[in-house]
Amino acid sequence: MADCIFCRIAAKEIPATAVYEDDSVIAFKDLEPQAPVHVLIIPKKHIKSLLGLTQEDRALVAHIHVDVVPQLAKELGLAEKGFRVVVNTGEEGGQTVGHLHFHLLGGRSMQWPPG
Ligand code: IMP
Repeated sequence: MADCIFCRIAAKEIPATAVYEDDSVIAFKDLEPQAPVHVLIIPKKHIKSLLGLTQEDRALVAHIHVDVVPQLAKELGLAEKGFRVVVNTGEEGGQTVGHLHFHLLGGRSMQWPPG
């Protein structure tokens, strides 16, 4: 989508600090990190939110969780002490960018409940 900032990052039209990339996924550093490690993992194809996922996306979602998150957690030094994966969804869920993204946060103790 031409007016989607994360589609434009995936297409390399907007610069980002990528930490992982393959055919279907890119992960890059969040512009306003909320933890010492804060990266966003996104599908390259435009999916508006968690609610935009379809049966076709099962393998993609599994790939992100089974392959990408553990690999990044290890590479970014989060595997031993732990980390948090967050998917803000919709207005009250705190989603500000309308392209599905998985926040991977770590490097400090997380609080509960989140704000
Ligand atoms: P949301 O609030 O869950 O939708 O998360 C959107 C995230 O995208 C926020 O943490 C922003 O800091 C981040 N963000 C917005 N624009 C950019 C960008 O151009 N590069 C990297 N991160 C961005």
